[in-house]
Amino acid sequence: MRIGILAVQGAFAEHAACVERLGAESVLLRQPSDIRALDALILPGGESTVQGKLLRDLRMLTPLREGIEAGMPVLGTCAGLILLAQYVEGGVPVLGTLPVTVRRNAYGRQLGSFSALGDVGTLHDFPQRYIRAPYVRSVTPGVEVLCVTGERITAVRSGNQLGTAFHPELTADLRIHRMLLDMA
Ligand code: GLN
Repeated sequence: MRIGILAVQGAFAEHAACVERLGAESVLLRQPSDIRALDALILPGGESTVQGKLLRDLRMLTPLREGIEAGMPVLGTCAGLILLAQYVEGGVPVLGTLPVTVRRNAYGRQLGSFSALGDVGTLHDFPQRYIRAPYVRSVTPGVEVLCVTGERITAVRSGNQLGTAFHPELTADLRIHRMLLDMA
């Protein structure tokens, strides 16, 4: 299985390691021609404004959006969730394929980084690492809420799209990556 990992900025190497530990091939996506023959896609954490600008400059936005709209399974983590969101409070959407509203840098200075443990859908006690994370303010009907942490929605699924506000690639728990591979 070939898993494309957006590799223009951010925590792509950690995602690649997770995918390979599960026995799949990771394909680092840096230009439009890299986006082919993929079974699934990962959009890593990092800085969504920088990633968005690079995606536009590198002309990767349209092929990625078309792939997702055609049903390619995708996991967006942290900044990657922001890239997917249809609405970004006070900002402009990037891919805009996931019908949710996100708030960026949503936990304030003190709580900029923290860890939590909680169920994500059917995954029991998933370790969650948050780094200047967004959260999901609202979802449109049909979007499945997979995780609520401290009364805030932190993981969602809508068809082929999976989004987490936290960083599953920074813990040893591979169950969310497994979920993506199972969708592919
Ligand atoms: N704060 C970042 C943003 O707004 C996301 C942080 C992250 O991906 N760890 O893009």
